[in-house]
Amino acid sequence: MSQREEKDIEVLRKVSRQNYLKKREKKKVEEYMHDVEDQKLLSEGVKVTEAEQEELRYNKKVQSLLKKRSRYTNYDADVNESYKMPDAYDEPDCVNQKKRFDVAVARYNDSEKDGKVNPFAWEDQQIRKATLSFGSKNKNQSEEAKAYDYVFDDQDEVVRADIKGGVDGNEEANQKKRLKSVVKSAYERLLEDRKSLPIYPEKERLLKAIEDNQILVIVAETGSGKTTQIPQYLHEAGYTKHGKIGVTQPRRVAAMSVAARVSREMGVKLGQQVGYSIRFEDRSCEKTVIKYMTDGMLLREILGEPDLASYTVVMVDEAHERSLSTDIVFSLVKDIAKVRPDLKVLISSATMDAQKFSEYFDSAPIIDIPGRRFPVEIHYTEAPEADYMDAAIVRALQIHVTEPQGDGDILIFFTGQEEIETAEEFLKQRTRGFGSKIPELIICPIYANLPTELQAKIFQPTPDGARKVVLATNIAETSLTIDGIKYVIDPGFVKLKSYNPRTGMESLQITAISKASANQRAGRSGRTGPGKCYRLYTEDYYLNDLCDNTVPEIQRTNLANVALSLKSLGIDDLVEFDFMDPPSSQALLKALELLFALNALNKFGELTKLGRQMAEFPLDPMLSKMIVASNIYKCSEEIVSIAAMLSVGGSIFYRPKNKKVHADNAHQNFHVGNVGDHIAMLNVYNGWKETEFSTQWCYDNFIQERSMKRARDIRDQLKGIMERLDIELTSNLGDLGAIKKAITAGYFPNSAKFQMDRSYRTIKNAQTVYIHPSSGLAEVLPRYVVYNELVDTSKEYMRQVSEIKREWLVEIAPHYYQLKD
Ligand code: ADP
Ligand code: MG
Repeated sequence: MSQREEKDIEVLRKVSRQNYLKKREKKKVEEYMHDVEDQKLLSEGVKVTEAEQEELRYNKKVQSLLKKRSRYTNYDADVNESYKMPDAYDEPDCVNQKKRFDVAVARYNDSEKDGKVNPFAWEDQQIRKATLSFGSKNKNQSEEAKAYDYVFDDQDEVVRADIKGGVDGNEEANQKKRLKSVVKSAYERLLEDRKSLPIYPEKERLLKAIEDNQILVIVAETGSGKTTQIPQYLHEAGYTKHGKIGVTQPRRVAAMSVAARVSREMGVKLGQQVGYSIRFEDRSCEKTVIKYMTDGMLLREILGEPDLASYTVVMVDEAHERSLSTDIVFSLVKDIAKVRPDLKVLISSATMDAQKFSEYFDSAPIIDIPGRRFPVEIHYTEAPEADYMDAAIVRALQIHVTEPQGDGDILIFFTGQEEIETAEEFLKQRTRGFGSKIPELIICPIYANLPTELQAKIFQPTPDGARKVVLATNIAETSLTIDGIKYVIDPGFVKLKSYNPRTGMESLQITAISKASANQRAGRSGRTGPGKCYRLYTEDYYLNDLCDNTVPEIQRTNLANVALSLKSLGIDDLVEFDFMDPPSSQALLKALELLFALNALNKFGELTKLGRQMAEFPLDPMLSKMIVASNIYKCSEEIVSIAAMLSVGGSIFYRPKNKKVHADNAHQNFHVGNVGDHIAMLNVYNGWKETEFSTQWCYDNFIQERSMKRARDIRDQLKGIMERLDIELTSNLGDLGAIKKAITAGYFPNSAKFQMDRSYRTIKNAQTVYIHPSSGLAEVLPRYVVYNELVDTSKEYMRQVSEIKREWLVEIAPHYYQLKD
């Protein structure tokens, strides 16, 4: 072992030896409990049972911890992980309300019997909790929450009267009546909403067309009710008697949010009759009859159930998005439909490409649902905007200040989470500057990694006198419909995967949108009335520079993953595969080459045992190769932690704006010894684990607890797959070299060598790349590195970088690398 490696290990030990934190946290909790006792909040003449006292204490504790934490991290209280919106996604409001109502009444009756003085004390607390958490700062409550506030404000009165001298019987009856009416109206409102959708009058025609045809293309304006209503119509019509309805979505947020909405409309609990399934998260059960899922998950289901026997209907939704998995699903369901004449296949799409879908599915009929679309005024800029972020924010504020108060909300399209967070910050700063001179502007971000409980916030109605500004990624283009949008601001960009088949390199790039996208975006402002769309580019640019349509993902992606899935489905001849728009043969060849290099295919192009194992993981081939290879290096425990951390998606390290230095110092601890980003992630995971997954530890170290919990979940699932595959779980924390070799076994195709000008050159293609500034090695600049991915912002950056030794490449991948000198 080299001196350097020894040093690394010493440091590693130091970092993970943070047991003191555990004690510290325990002490805090104890102190807090004393606090609670001291406040004697239960002793105000109210008789309550032991269980109720416990409940109250618990509520208090949660709230105070919340307060403490939000101070500590400068989070908004409602951004906090432990602060879950009350069942916003778990239970339909109507069910919830009914339950609370029943509980309230039952307890009221009980307490009457016992002769207690304040029967509502407990409910009061519960309701406070519920209304508090419905949205930010009370102003943003949903109608239901307001209704609650109202009812229980009244109830407060009752309680007060009660303390003074008892409630009279009439008052009590009124009370119950009012509660009942809230429950009823919430459900009725949903029903009314459903009936007002453009798809509703077409219900019979639609059901008839589905009955008469096996494959049907359904086209309707975004927001018509395709995603949420069609599955319900089919359910009502009996299609779920002998199987379930599967609905695919290209985006995971859409799958979750739509499932939540539909469960609420049906008055059932999410995860029961209506569920969803996305990678690493399955909220469905045997009872589930309407299942929303990402298109990728349907692919995995086909791996396990090649004829989709448990389904009676498959609806490939958002077909116009042409995501990679959707394209593959097209071809597979087309085949399955031939052997399963009883299976209904619906291809649904916004108003694009219908003819093409119909042709692909052997002239399947098209059913066109007339939508309503109000006129939209399009405004262009006179000259190109140098800074679209700034332009967008200025435009949003202008609209907010000059357009009539409360006449509609604003939607701005950004390219990703980072941009959205920056915009949010800017907007907050500027509106703060105005103070109370302008009406309230409620900022609602929405992007893929936004925690579920916050996603619900964008759908809450805007309170009177305020205006909402939704900062969204492309997800709001067609996947999600937010009611009440009147103004759209479109900077004209989107973040897309791009792939160079010559070099085999894939990266995420900010790209100009297509004309089709621009028109969809504009259309979002004209759903409920005439709208306005501000394009932050010139008309000339729109007319002459934008492509008509976005290139389908299959033509701009690394196909290794797809090739591996298809191979494991027994589809050997990929060139002959029935793609709607075939990828270039060069791209296919590259994918096969990579799988061959990873030893997933043998020289005849057949799946090897290793390849079969790799296909079991819902991960990119390089990542799954790393896991399978860790068996050889006896470090699978460490590698699975790293793999889980890499799969989290969202960021692990948290840098609050006003505590950047603190955060950076804390993060530095994980990198001590320049161990590289992968080992740093392992240090984070192990550090957290050592404190028994402590929340406090995350706050102390500026780590996003939410991401960590997700990593732990993913890790458990990956471990499950490993056990199934007989990959032994062994730990080898003492040998960082072994861990890095296992990483190299997966990522050797992504290796790069340092150049004198501080850049790197990829070894395989001699492409110039750089270490991303956020990497722990950004200043260290080791001679040889492997990286996880390339992102292209201003230049090609390598993200998640580890130092390797040159010899390893030859040792691990002799068929790929040879020593020249
Ligand atoms: P389509 O699939 O045709 O674009 P949807 O079925 O997604 O239409 O949406 C129909 C309506 O349902 C939308 O106009 C919106 O008002 C409402 N809706 C959809 N999803 C949600 C949600 N998660 N929360 C609240 N309302 C929603
Ligand atoms: Mg839809």
